[in-house]
Amino acid sequence: MALTDVKQVRICEVGLRDGLQNEKKIMTTEQKIQAVNDLTAAGFPVIEVGSFVSPKAVPQVADTDAVFQGIRQKPGVEYRALIANLKGVERAVACGCKKVKLNVSASVAHNLANLNCTPAESVARFAVCVERAKEEGIEISGSISMAFGSPWDKEIPVSVVCKIIEAYREVGIREISLSDASGMAYPSQVAEICRTVKAKYPDCSWWLHFHNTRGLGIANILAGLSEGFTQYDTSFAGTGGCPFVPGAAGNVSSEDVVHMLDEMGIATGIDLDRLMAISRKVAEFLGHPTDSYLLRAGKASDLILDVPTRQGKNHTQTPEKK
Ligand code: ZN
Repeated sequence: MALTDVKQVRICEVGLRDGLQNEKKIMTTEQKIQAVNDLTAAGFPVIEVGSFVSPKAVPQVADTDAVFQGIRQKPGVEYRALIANLKGVERAVACGCKKVKLNVSASVAHNLANLNCTPAESVARFAVCVERAKEEGIEISGSISMAFGSPWDKEIPVSVVCKIIEAYREVGIREISLSDASGMAYPSQVAEICRTVKAKYPDCSWWLHFHNTRGLGIANILAGLSEGFTQYDTSFAGTGGCPFVPGAAGNVSSEDVVHMLDEMGIATGIDLDRLMAISRKVAEFLGHPTDSYLLRAGKASDLILDVPTRQGKNHTQTPEKK
């Protein structure tokens, strides 16, 4: 598919979950509620609000229930949470969350060591979650982390990823996210996996989730776009990481991706200025530099410098104020 054929992309902001869960400084519930409402106002069609997992394991998102109770859910916007089991579905029901996402690691070695079963066997155990979610009218999707490689296996064969996709389909899940938490994906591999899974499972709805650990996040998104994949997770200010992956970076920053898509004439529905204001606030709160090119350099369209003259004096002409 030619990139010029892509007209629209859906972005899910995952900063509140994936971004903040790796930070020492924890936002208050009030700050999170404000951030979700601001992201809604900025035009995000999907927002990952947090996770319903063990508060001991991930204290940064322990208050996800309270955040859901405090936000204004705009009709048409999906407010998603990550879950690990049936308890997660029950928590979603109790606080008004209408969209949940399960996750499994594609690493057979990692899964066997941790859970004593293969990734596909893990997914089969999710059947109870799907049943309960459907009873309650909650949409349920599945993600596959380490789909492009893991620190334990290096590359993950496409056949392994397909087995997990089939396990998800078996339990009735058709919305699937391929995630590169380890930052090992590269563009030609992304294109090949996208082409394979799209041809094999044409009725699935796909998300791609890239971490920018080795600077390939945007390149991988372009590879996905060229295969007609139009749903991506990104993170405000480029926050995030992964506790078990050495040197892991965050997702590609939301503002960098929206800026690129704006320049390419691809619609996202997101107001870049409002998004940058949110990301700036997050970066200020965290108090350390984050991986966002836009926060450093600003938008290309704002760049109107004075033209230097021969004498080394600058032109006095200033850009017209809006
Ligand atoms: Zn991630």
